[in-house]
Amino acid sequence: MIRHEHAQPYENLVYYSYQLFEPFPQMSCVISTRLGGVSEGYSHSLNLSFSVGDTEQAVLTNRSRLYHIVDVEPQSVAQAHLVHGNYIEIVTSQSPTGTYRRFAETDGLVTNVIHKPLLILVADCAAVAFFDPKQHVIALLHAGWKGIVSNIVAKMVSTMHETFGCRPSDMLAAISPSLGPCCYEVREDLVAAFHEAFPAHAQDLFRLQPDTSIHLDMWAALRYQLRESGIRPEYIEESGLCTACHLDEFYSHRAERGKTGRFAGLIVLRSAT
Ligand SMILES: [Zn+2]
Repeated sequence: MIRHEHAQPYENLVYYSYQLFEPFPQMSCVISTRLGGVSEGYSHSLNLSFSVGDTEQAVLTNRSRLYHIVDVEPQSVAQAHLVHGNYIEIVTSQSPTGTYRRFAETDGLVTNVIHKPLLILVADCAAVAFFDPKQHVIALLHAGWKGIVSNIVAKMVSTMHETFGCRPSDMLAAISPSLGPCCYEVREDLVAAFHEAFPAHAQDLFRLQPDTSIHLDMWAALRYQLRESGIRPEYIEESGLCTACHLDEFYSHRAERGKTGRFAGLIVLRSAT
């Protein structure tokens, strides 16, 4: 990832982009941080969610700053009401978009429409971004452990293939900052769910700690599913930043005990070639 500090007029606004997408000016993909906004209290300062007790005006101001830096129109942004499922919405030029519109019970968004940005809010879960430079398709999904067990990654890759003719070997994928193996303590029942979802590899996804607690390596699980779906290892970028370890820049639902804001993955196609 590449760290950016925005210049005037929002000097303190920090965001990230992926090295992997640098060669492609026809699209933009950014990850916001918590720096550079106007929210106060536990959601300080660039909270993008209306659902965490922040004021509406603060969220609108924060969103307008993020949209300004990537030059997108608020009314064109496609959003999802995330439910840790694996439903994927194909966003068309006719789809309802804008600040107060969200696709119900949706955890993945995909489109080949230019100037139709996709937004996914997170605070520990991963926002995984996809781009196919051949078919000019972008996608963004939300995955925590439930999304991984239901393999929303494979579902996204097959949706891109079936809907837009994308070949997995052409696709690029990037995994946002999220809860890392250092901090993702899990219960036994979750371990069992992973053994069902990853019959041959589940043991590689957990880290037994000295205090006998068990930690999940969500990044390894996502990498595995991306590769199993046919994406080349060299076309996968992983931020490697743990939200709970980097509260100075990101929100962490786990580390802040639910009293926190949301940062975002935002991806947009800028031209059709
Ligand atoms: Zn950590």
